[in-house]
Amino acid sequence: MKKLEKLVRPNIWRLKPYSSARDEFKGEASVFLDANENPYNTPYNRYPDPLQWKVKEKIADLKGVNIESIFLGVGSDEPIDLLYRAFCEPGIDNVIAIDPTYGMYKVCADINNVEYRPVRLNNDFDFEPDKLLAEADSNSKLLFLCSPNNPSGNSFSFEKIRYILDNFQGIVIVDEAYIDFSAYPSLLEKLDQYPNLVVLQTFSKAWGSAGIRLGMAFASKNIIQIFNKIKYPYNINRLTQEHALELLKRNGEIQAWVKELVSEREILQKELSALPVILHIYPSDANFLLVKTRDAQALYDYLVAKGIIVRNRNKITLCENCLRITVGTPEENKALIDALKKVTL
Ligand SMILES: *Cc1c(COP(=O)(O)O)cnc(C)c1O
Repeated sequence: MKKLEKLVRPNIWRLKPYSSARDEFKGEASVFLDANENPYNTPYNRYPDPLQWKVKEKIADLKGVNIESIFLGVGSDEPIDLLYRAFCEPGIDNVIAIDPTYGMYKVCADINNVEYRPVRLNNDFDFEPDKLLAEADSNSKLLFLCSPNNPSGNSFSFEKIRYILDNFQGIVIVDEAYIDFSAYPSLLEKLDQYPNLVVLQTFSKAWGSAGIRLGMAFASKNIIQIFNKIKYPYNINRLTQEHALELLKRNGEIQAWVKELVSEREILQKELSALPVILHIYPSDANFLLVKTRDAQALYDYLVAKGIIVRNRNKITLCENCLRITVGTPEENKALIDALKKVTL
């Protein structure tokens, strides 16, 4: 990897961030007259902790990472956008990503006017590291991997990811939104070895909390400091921080959900494979299954008419006639299977 100073946009490297009232005074006091808050409606009258230390302490314990290696964002969407804003000079720099993958990487590239270079996966949705690296030039700042990948559901081997980490000159992002459902270990344990690694995780999937909008980025302290410099000062609101603290106490329950969903995934996989309308089910390490059908649009419309919504991925690279099906409760999965048994397409 190049030196961080060479990768970060010069204006961001030089930036002196906004300093909030809560940044300037930390500690115990009983009279707070520093932030123009209203004294009534406690505790929501107060600005939240801009760096969310209580939540991060719990996450650091749970994940075994240094607290200074954690960034919290409004979903994973925020760190994805911040990566562009920190590293990519609009109209000049470019990023590399596997294709197909999560759509937000490209949307953020387009918003930030950064060239996006998709590299087609092979028919098993796997990649050749050298093919990805062949797209890189001296303006390639970011390389996005997603493991387990959305929409295909498969994980990538650490050997391939390591090859990218060792040979790409910019920042390598590994999006682990679905890691809790995967048999593969998280790359968090490699964080100390790779100063160019950013791992993304989220409260939206295994943690059952898409509604609170809380995403995590893990990286070297130096990268996290840059994110902190450019984020909105109070990006994570008080309600979200409170809910996250409650959730983190319920870790055992969350792990039980994950176990249940993985076992339901296996059941769903078996049941779907017995249906003539399903031509192929791709192996999944996530809480969804990508399935190939004879006619994805017709099947999608049929299910919608029954009140069952799946994701039509027909127009995505390598996903012709594919539907992406999220694993639900046993009852929801049964409703899907029952509907598919009756289909006459
Ligand atoms: C669902 C998902 C996320 C989560 O995004 P949030 O903004 O945290 O809700 C991130 N990455 C991938 C690949 C996803 O599928």
